[in-house]
Amino acid sequence: MVNYHVLTLFPDMVAEGLNTSILGRAAAKGLLSVEAINIRDYTKEKHGHVDDAPYGGGAGMVMQAAPICDAYDALCSRLGKRPRVLYMTPQGRVFNQKLAQELAREEDLVFLCGHYEGVDERALELIATDYLSIGDYVLTGGELPAMVMIDCISRLIPGVLNNGASAEFESFHDNLLEYPQYTRPESYRGQKVPEVLLSGHHKNIEAWRREQSIRRTWERRPDLLEKAQLSPKEKGYLETIAKPAHG
Ligand code: SAM
Repeated sequence: MVNYHVLTLFPDMVAEGLNTSILGRAAAKGLLSVEAINIRDYTKEKHGHVDDAPYGGGAGMVMQAAPICDAYDALCSRLGKRPRVLYMTPQGRVFNQKLAQELAREEDLVFLCGHYEGVDERALELIATDYLSIGDYVLTGGELPAMVMIDCISRLIPGVLNNGASAEFESFHDNLLEYPQYTRPESYRGQKVPEVLLSGHHKNIEAWRREQSIRRTWERRPDLLEKAQLSPKEKGYLETIAKPAHG
C-alpha cells in the first residue's frame, strides 16, 4: 500500500484525475490512497496569497516558502513521520520505470507541485528529498507530472493490476520494449495474426515474443539495448538483425 500526499494549489485537478479506472478501483480496495492537500489552506496572509514577485526582478510569480512548509509540517504531525518529498521540476532527474519500482516500496510519498515560475528555494532546501522531472520540456505546473508518476508507481503495487504478471513483462522491464500484441479477429483488413500466436505452443510463443522485443528495441530504442541482459543466442540474433542488408 502506498499513501500519496500531493501538495498543490489545484487539488481538484489531482483528486479528479486519479479517481477513475484502475487507480480508482485500487483506492476503493484500500491498495493505495491519494490525498490532495491545498497549499492555500496554510497561508497566513490576509488575502490568501501564496505567491509573490521574485527578488531581483524578472517575469512571473514565485510560490512562497511558508505555506508549503506549514502544509508539510501539518502532514508530518498527523502521520508521525517525515516522508520523502518529491519536488516536481524540469530541473530534476528524469523519472523512469526503475525509479517507479523503488518508489512503489515506500509507505508514504509526498509530491510537491510547483506552479508559475516555481517555488522559493528555501522551501526546497528545507523539505525536498528528491528533484524529479518527467522529461526535458516545461509544463505550467507539477500536477500532471505528479499524476504521471502516481499512475506509473501504482501499477507496480501488488494487487492493483488484475493480472499480477502483466506489469512484470512490459516495456522497460529488462531494458527491452514489449513485443507486438494482437486480439480478435484473426484477420483484419487482410492482415493476419502471426501464425505462432495461434499455435498454442507456449515455448515457441515465448521465443517469438522475446525475439520481437529485441527487434523492436533495436528499431525504436537502441540506446536501451546496451543495458539489456541478452543470452549468447540472443546476442547472435541481434547481430543478424543489426547487420546492414546487402544491396
Ligand atoms: N522556472 C522553472 C524553471 O525554469 O526550471 C519552471 C517552472 S514551471 C513553468 C512551473 C512548475 O511546473 C514547476 O515548478 C514544476 O513543479 C512543474 N514542471 C514543469 N515542467 C516540469 C517537468 N518537465 N517535470 C516535472 N515538473 C515540471
